[in-house]
Amino acid sequence: MSPTGSKDPLHIAIIGGGITGVNLALGLQARNVSYSIYERSAGFREIGAGIGFSPNAERAMAALNPDILTSYKRLANPNGEDYFQWVNGCATDEPIFKLHVGKDGFQGGLRSKFLEEWAKLIPPTAVQFSKQLDTITEPTPDSPKLRLHFTDGTTATADAVIGCDGIHSRVRDLLLAPQTTTNPPAPGDQPPSSPPTTAHPTYTHKFCFRTLAPMPAAIAAIGPTQASTRFMYNGPGAHLITYPVGNSTLLNILAVIDATSSTPWPYGQRHTAPGHRSEAERAFEQWGPTARAIVGLFPDSEEGAPLDKWALFDMAEYPMPGYARGRVGVAGDAAHAAGPHLGAGAGMGVEDAAVLAAVLGAIGGWWEGDGEGEGHELLERALRVFNEVRYSRTQWVVHAAREACDLFQWRDEAIGKDPERFGREITELFHTIWKYDVDGMVEEALAKLGAPAS
Ligand SMILES: Cc1cc2nc3c(=O)[nH]c(=O)nc-3n(C[C@H](O)[C@H](O)[C@H](O)COP(=O)(O)OP(=O)(O)OC[C@H]3O[C@@H](n4cnc5c(N)ncnc54)[C@H](O)[C@@H]3O)c2cc1C
Repeated sequence: MSPTGSKDPLHIAIIGGGITGVNLALGLQARNVSYSIYERSAGFREIGAGIGFSPNAERAMAALNPDILTSYKRLANPNGEDYFQWVNGCATDEPIFKLHVGKDGFQGGLRSKFLEEWAKLIPPTAVQFSKQLDTITEPTPDSPKLRLHFTDGTTATADAVIGCDGIHSRVRDLLLAPQTTTNPPAPGDQPPSSPPTTAHPTYTHKFCFRTLAPMPAAIAAIGPTQASTRFMYNGPGAHLITYPVGNSTLLNILAVIDATSSTPWPYGQRHTAPGHRSEAERAFEQWGPTARAIVGLFPDSEEGAPLDKWALFDMAEYPMPGYARGRVGVAGDAAHAAGPHLGAGAGMGVEDAAVLAAVLGAIGGWWEGDGEGEGHELLERALRVFNEVRYSRTQWVVHAAREACDLFQWRDEAIGKDPERFGREITELFHTIWKYDVDGMVEEALAKLGAPAS
């Protein structure tokens, strides 16, 4: 008998099949916890761009499910050198600083390939596509489960719901609106520190262009050394980052441009808009030859090759007051979307998933054992623990990403160009992310969860 008085096994609904949702699913799978992913797209979908996973993210993958790490490593691109290297983009690539990333650390790869490979590990019966969550309703006397309502009029049930539905999360909105949450706050729930509906992403006044340049063209433009490994080009009001992906057949390029002095992002919550290479060329026109050659690798819409411009949003200004309420939680970008500047956002989602899988996995064990009558309180406790363990680190990352961007873009030129000061500050930021004790975090969560009252 289950703790809810029925014979149903513990069942978790995951909203969103992006990196966070898929990692959580595989973590639950490894712990024999039943789950369903509800994804609004018609399939697992990621954009055609690169992504890097830092060493902490790799450790979180291992803690979740060793198959996640194996699949990632199979596709991760070798680094030409085990260093992250920063140069002065305005001079002729004058070195500023290099940071050891560890053997095969912080490797890049293609987002779509990673997601595709992980998705192969998920049984088709555990996923429903074209299911966009609309709302969640309270349990009824007949059914102790939460009821999920989708925009197509269908419903489903679950014992807990985890919103991994990205920066414009619907689950976050439901969590923040008291009348639509599933349960009143449990004793010990952190009360919202600000009016709840204020938590939302805002434009950071930075936008970016991203592309995947064929490697032969990249080598012709910047040479084989710089195209073979992770480089960043720093300078006033902009920066460029490049690393190889796709088994070194492509160079991933991201150009981040400060828009502080220009008008607000005119496209509302839409993150992309048609862009022009000339805009990037203008931002880098006073820079050195390598930086300008990299910008020259972007497609040119004047020549019929469209180029999107991406607004960068984060949740620094209006953060979530907490990541869970009752039996509903949020993880990944839904909880704490950060700018891309430390290459850490997806890694934070994987770390979130590691904690959630551990605490929900522990409850899964009790659910079928001696947890009768208290299962749903245990789930609430698990989500409170998740919030306690993850809140301060993930909020810190949101702000640290902004700090890093200021360093790359020479908000203080004296620090930006000074190898010692830049090196000290950037090392501190990256090491706080990379050297995190992921196993310790999981142990802490399990210790806080304790055991069910006997
Ligand atoms: C330019 C750029 C570069 C970056 N580079 C890096 C990097 O190198 N390393 C790194 O770690 N991070 C990086 N990040 C951050 C990283 O991309 C994100 O943190 C990560 O992709 C978030 O994953 P997620 O699964 O939480 O959300 P998402 O990827 O947004 O996935 C959410 C999913 O939920 C689905 N969904 C949404 N609403 C609903 C609904 N109502 N019902 C059902 N499904 C729904 C969506 O369709 C989507 O599939 C970068 C970000 C940017 C912008």
